[in-house]
Formats: sequence, C-alpha cells, structure tokens
Amino acid sequence: MSDIIKILPGDVSNKIAAGEVVQRPSSVLKELIENSIDADSSRIQIIIKDAGKNLIQVIDNGKGMSRNDMRLSFIKHATSKINRIEDIFSISSMGFRGEALAAIASVSMVEMESINNNKNGHFIEINGGEVISEKDSNIQEGTSIKIKNIFFNVPARRNFLKSDFVELRHILDVFHRLAISYPEIEFSFINNEEEIFYLKEEPLNKRIISIFGEKIRQNLIPINESTQIANISGYVLKPEFSKKSRNNQFIFVNNRFIKSQFISHSISASYDGLLKDGYYPGYFLFIEIDPTKIDVNVHPNKTEIKFDDDQNLYSIINSSVKHCLGIYQVSPLLDFDKDPSMEISYDQVKSQPTIPSIEINSEFNPFQAFNEDKSDKFTNDFLATNNKLNLEDENNQALKIFQILNKFIVSTNKSSLIIINQNLAHQRILYESFLKSIFENSVNSQKLVFPIEISLTKKQVLLYSKINDEFKSIGFDISVKSELMLIESIPFGIEKNNVAEVIESILNEDFNTSNDYSTSDFFAKRLSKVTSIKSGQKLNSEEQEYIVNHLFSCKEPNLSPDNKQIFITLNKNDIENKFNG
Ligand code: ADP
Ligand code: MG
Repeated sequence: MSDIIKILPGDVSNKIAAGEVVQRPSSVLKELIENSIDADSSRIQIIIKDAGKNLIQVIDNGKGMSRNDMRLSFIKHATSKINRIEDIFSISSMGFRGEALAAIASVSMVEMESINNNKNGHFIEINGGEVISEKDSNIQEGTSIKIKNIFFNVPARRNFLKSDFVELRHILDVFHRLAISYPEIEFSFINNEEEIFYLKEEPLNKRIISIFGEKIRQNLIPINESTQIANISGYVLKPEFSKKSRNNQFIFVNNRFIKSQFISHSISASYDGLLKDGYYPGYFLFIEIDPTKIDVNVHPNKTEIKFDDDQNLYSIINSSVKHCLGIYQVSPLLDFDKDPSMEISYDQVKSQPTIPSIEINSEFNPFQAFNEDKSDKFTNDFLATNNKLNLEDENNQALKIFQILNKFIVSTNKSSLIIINQNLAHQRILYESFLKSIFENSVNSQKLVFPIEISLTKKQVLLYSKINDEFKSIGFDISVKSELMLIESIPFGIEKNNVAEVIESILNEDFNTSNDYSTSDFFAKRLSKVTSIKSGQKLNSEEQEYIVNHLFSCKEPNLSPDNKQIFITLNKNDIENKFNG
C-alpha cells in the first residue's frame, strides 16, 4: 500500500489555524489593534462596516513595515517580536505568535498599505492567503490594513456569524477593552460612516468617562496598592453603581485584558454586604505582575491566564479593594430578600439543547388549555383532568393547585403530582407569546401618560439601533435623541416600573453566555427572563391557574427558553417506591 500521510498544504493549515485565532470579526479587530499598539502608534483609527462582516479597517501612525516585511508578515510564524524561546516567558508586547495575519489573510480579502523610515510606501493585496497584487503607495505614515469579506472562502463559518447586533457588540467590547488599557493612545471609531467614538489622549479616569458617559464620574473610586507580589491600580465603582450584568468588569494583567474567575471572585467578595442580591460590582482593575510568574499562553485567545501564586494574589486583591471601599466610606446597604432556603437550584437538563423553533403555530390559541400532539403523555393526562374540572364534572376529584416556598406551583391529577417552577414556566409562556408578536406583527401596547426617559451610553445607543425593529414589533414606541431614550408606549404585560431595567438588561446582555440563534429569538428570551414572575413571589390562586393553563398550551412546555426543566412529575410508582425504598 502506498504512503498515506501528507503534510497539509500551507493554505489548508492556515485555514485550520484561522479557526483558533479568527472566530469572528471582533477577533480580527483585536489582532489588528494589538499590532498597531505593538508598532508604537499614538493614534489608531478603526473603520467598521456591517458589524465587521464586510469591512474591518485599522489605520495607525506606527513605525510601519518595509516592502519585504509586508510580504513576510502574512507568513505563519513570521514575527518581529520574538527570537529566542526564552522571549516567550518575558514578552511584553501584545502579539507574539506571528500567526494572526497569516490566519486572517487565509480567510478574507486583505489590503495593506504601509510605510517605514525608508519612505517607500507599498501596497499589497491578498485574497484567501494568495498575493494578488502589489504596487507603490503614497501612504504618508504608519500602516493601514483592510480586512474585507471575512470568511468569504469558508461559507460554513460565514453563515455561522451572528446578527449585526451580536457581532457589533463583540467588536465594541474589544474596542472598549483596548481603549481603556491604552488611554495614552488617541482612538477614533467609525461605524458605517459615522464616528461613534473620538477619544483623545487622556488619563485613565477621563477615558472611562469618555466611554461610559458622565454618570460614571462620581462613582469611580481610585485603587492603588503596591506589594511584593503585584501592584494593583485602577478604579472600582461604588456599590450604588452595581448592575445586574457583569458588563462593567474589566481586569487587566500587565495591561492585557483577561478573564479570571478567581480574581472576579476576590473582588466581589470585597463588596460582601454592600450589594443587593443579583447585582454585580463594576471595576477597572490593573494588576501588574512579574511576567515570569504568569502563563498567558494557556488559551489561544489569550484572555485566560494562569498565576503561580494565586492564593496570595487573591488576598492581596481582596484586601486592596476592601481598603479603598473603606476609605471612601461606602456605607453598607441592607441586604434584603435573601433567604438561603429559596436557593434550591435545578440541574441543567442533561440532554443536547434543542434549538428553539421559531415557526408560528397558526392554530395557537392562548385560551385553549391543551394541545394533544405536542405535550407528553403526562401533560395530556393532566390537562384532561384540568379540562374536566373546567367543565365542572362533579365526578372528578377537584384539581388542586397551590404554591409552595413562593417558588413552585404544585398540582395533581388522577395518578401524579406535578411540581412547576413558577419562574421558568412563566418565562416559557412569555417567550412564546413575544415570539408570536414579533413574527405576526400583532402589536399589543399601552400608551404612557408620562413617557419614560432613560440615558444611555454610546454603546447602548449603537446596539439599540440594531434591534429597534424588534422593540417596535413587540409594542414599544421608542425614540432616541443623542444619548437620551424616550419611551412613549410599552407592551401590555410589562410593568412600567420595570421598563428601564428591561431595556438595560437587553442592551447589556452578556453574549458569551447566551445561546442566541437570531436577534428575535434572543430578544424574546431576554424579555421573557426580565419580565417573568420571579421565585420568591407569592401568587394568588388565579395567577397559579394562569401559569398552569398557559404553560400547557405552549408548544414546548417541558423546557424553559434556556433549556432548563420547567416541571417534574411524581407518579404513583415514584411515590410508592419512596415508601418501600
Ligand atoms: P505577531 O503580532 O504575533 O508578531 P502578526 O501576524 O500579528 O504576528 O504580525 C506579524 C508581523 O507583522 C508583526 O510581528 C509585525 O512585525 C508586523 N506588523 C503587523 N501589523 C503591523 C502594524 N500595524 N505596524 C507595523 N508592523 C506590523
Ligand atoms: Mg499580532
């Protein structure tokens, strides 16, 4: 038999490597900005079109490249930043693997112009890794690189890109992280021809305010602590400025944005007793540590990191944050509604998550309490009983519905006991009804006598523009002028007092944890989560009945929009087994 092992051709191996480096437009943007920073730029301009799907351009005034270096820069493991293996452990520049440009070029159309101190500007064009043209350029300084049509030659990846809302949000996250860690660099960010951010060179606190808005100014508490192990600096936010999302949490190690559960935990622990349940503190924490004491190379995207001495670091951070909160005499808020007995959590359903179907059941009737073919046998049984009850069949034992622990609704039928998680059930009911409004365009809204005003950050304004249609289709009447949002109508079913929270929570959603399949689906999911009846809420018998009846007329009564089990059943055998155990 002939030999079968082959070395992969360069373009194939680059495409495979591209999967690690280039997950989405935002990962391209990150690599490009980092390259500009490494080239000592003091001014960086970013131009984005269609959430980066069609264009990501970065223009800098850095030291530029020679003609030859431009060609070499697209070859795998071509880097000017590392010569010896020892360098890997003490590296201080952002990129050093020398694979970003090769990977990016293999899955997109690239145009690069650059000039260095020999003053011969050059232009090079690369399609899917192949150089297709080169010529002189009259670029005056630095480097300009355009990445067009990302994944044009890997359709499976291109189709996998999420909605503009989601991709733009990732892009803004990347931009914010880098802009915060380099306040000494001037940045301009242009999205679809409009300059969204112009950030001049400024100190860190001003940079944070330029990005997050004036509101954050009085909430910044400086932190500054030097120890043998690490130096801690930056700002933490007053507990009053805590949010329901973790969006305002930024940790930088040696000026590189990272994610670290133990560091987040040590900071959060410092806020113990200062935050309401479900709220997260905000911070911009810079940790400076000897680079030989960390390993940044554990993750291809380099946002995760390993520390040699994490226990000591934990306590240093924890006490530094406590210390600065103490200095600013942040007085503790009362911690209400906290009852540990309520914290019984459901196991995530083990089966593969199913993709929520978004097609519409035209026979859907919210008042019809049962749906034979969609629900399982128990459900049908259960509903049959329920139906008879409605028909007042006196032969049937009355169906009892009651609430326990202010969290579960318990009901019975002929042979079984059913325990429903009220919060998850209500999420399912609302989710299906919101999706229905979106797709059938059946608006159901109430005009407010006093319109609601919410001030937004620039990022929120931009994200809102990507989903304003969904907001409208569901019954919101919203207009946005500069950074002020005016809400004149809201959908029925949403409490007026909840509106600001609903909107903020949608715009702040942390996409890394959500399984969003389309903007509408994401929107309906998020809205149902925020507006649903919560655990801990006492329900009267009408409300309990509403949940039970409406849950079982849903298309998928078993699982919440996030695929959690909504109810459990105990049948006769289960109960008997408990006794015979
Ligand atoms: P790495 O950054 O890991 O070295 P890249 O593939 O990102 O690898 O870049 C390859 C090389 O191209 C860099 O080492 C650098 O010499 C050069 N380069 C890339 N972008 C720029 C830029 N904006 N300005 C100057 N040189 C650049
Ligand atoms: Mg790089």
